[in-house]
Amino acid sequence: MTKIGIIRCQESAMSPDMKRRCAGWGCLAAASKGLAYFDEYDEIELVGIDTCGGCPGKGNTKKIVDIGQNLKDHGVEVIHLSSCISGFCPNRNLFIKALTNDVGIDVKERTHGGPDGKRLPLGPDGKPLMPEELFAKLKTKDS
Ligand code: SF4
Repeated sequence: MTKIGIIRCQESAMSPDMKRRCAGWGCLAAASKGLAYFDEYDEIELVGIDTCGGCPGKGNTKKIVDIGQNLKDHGVEVIHLSSCISGFCPNRNLFIKALTNDVGIDVKERTHGGPDGKRLPLGPDGKPLMPEELFAKLKTKDS
C-alpha cells in the first residue's frame, strides 16, 4: 500500500469560469482505478489532494514546501504532480526540486494522460514532454 498525495494547478482548479473549473476529474479517475500514472502501484491510498497554492513568484518555494510538508505530515509517501502541472507549469522543475530537497519526499510527474487516460510519451531524457513537443510527437504518430 502506497500513500499518495496529488498537487495540481491552482489556476486550473480555481478557474473563474465555472464550466472550465477542474475538480480533479482526470486525477481522481486514474487514481481510483489504478490507471495511467498509478498503474505501477499494487495498491494505493489517496491521502490528500491540494493545489500548488497559486503561482509562486520567481524562485519562491515557501507555498509548495508548506503544502508538501502538510501532505507528508498526513502520511503521504509519494506526491504526484498532476498532469496540468507536469504538462504546462513553468514552475514544475522548481516544485520538484523543493519537494525533493526541502520536504524530503518522493515526487512523480503526471497523474492521467490524454483523453483516453493512457500514459503520454516521454522525451529522450525520460521526462514528460512540454505541450508543444507533445503535440508535435502525437501529430507525427498520427500521420
Ligand atoms: S504555479 Fe503552475 S501549477 Fe501553480 S497556478 Fe501557476 S501555472 Fe498553475
